Amino acid sequence: MSVQSILKVQRLTKSYPTASGQLTVLQDVSFDLEGGQSLAILGPSGSGKTTLLGLCAGLDRPTSGDVVVAGEPIGAMSEDERARVRNEHVGFVFQNFQLVPTLTALENVLVPLELRGAGGAQAERKATELLARVGLGQRTDHYPVQLSGGEQQRVALARAFINEPKILFCDEPTGNLDGATAQTVQDLIFGLNHENGTTLVMVTHDLELAKLCGNVLRLKNGAVVDA
Ligand code: ADP
Repeated sequence: MSVQSILKVQRLTKSYPTASGQLTVLQDVSFDLEGGQSLAILGPSGSGKTTLLGLCAGLDRPTSGDVVVAGEPIGAMSEDERARVRNEHVGFVFQNFQLVPTLTALENVLVPLELRGAGGAQAERKATELLARVGLGQRTDHYPVQLSGGEQQRVALARAFINEPKILFCDEPTGNLDGATAQTVQDLIFGLNHENGTTLVMVTHDLELAKLCGNVLRLKNGAVVDA
C-alpha cells in the first residue's frame, strides 16, 4: 500500500440473501485514493453506488473483499470498531440531510464531537465557527424545520467537517436542492476539500459535479465499467 493511500478498496463484493439464492449488488470493485484526491461515483439507479459508498464509509460490511480507511482494514471489523473508525476519519453528507429534528443547528454540528466525548465550550466555539464558515452564523439556534433545504445541507456539511475527517463521503449532496442553492453547497464542498486536503468521494447523477472530481468510477450492475 502506498504511504499516502487514504482509501483502498480491494475486490469489494456485496450480496444479499434472497428467496431464490444470493443477489450480488456489488462485484469485485477495487480502487485506491490518496489524501486530498476526489472521486465521483456514477451509474444508473440500482447500479450499487449507495451500497459502495456505505461500505467505504464503514456503514455496512462487505460479503468479501476489504476497505482500508487511513491504514485500518474495516471489512471484518465489529460494528463498534467501525463506528470508532467512522468517528475518527469519516464525514458523511446525505441527499436528504439527515439532521436530528429535535436539535438546533449548533447542537446537530456538535453531535460527532459529543460521540467522541469531546463536548464543552471549546467544541461549541468550533461548531459556531464552522457554521459561520458555511454562512449560517445567524442560524445557530434554529431547528431543522426552520431552515431551508440548502441551509440544512450546510448544517450537515458543518457537522461532517467538525471532526476534521480525512475522507468526506457525499451521497447526491445537491440532489434535493435547486440550482443556485446546489451551487453554493457544491462550492462549499470543494472549498473545504481544497482548504483541508480532505479526500472526497461523491455519488452523483450530476455530470458537471463529477467533472470537478479528479477521478471518476462508473458502475453498471454492481461492476466497474470503463475504469
Ligand atoms: P444505487 O445507489 O446505484 O441506486 P443501490 O446501491 O442503492 O444502487 O442498490 C443496488 C442494488 O442493491 C439495488 O438493486 C437494490 O435494490 C439492492 N439493495 C440495496 N440494499 C439492499 C438490501 N438491504 N437488501 C437487498 N437488496 C438491496
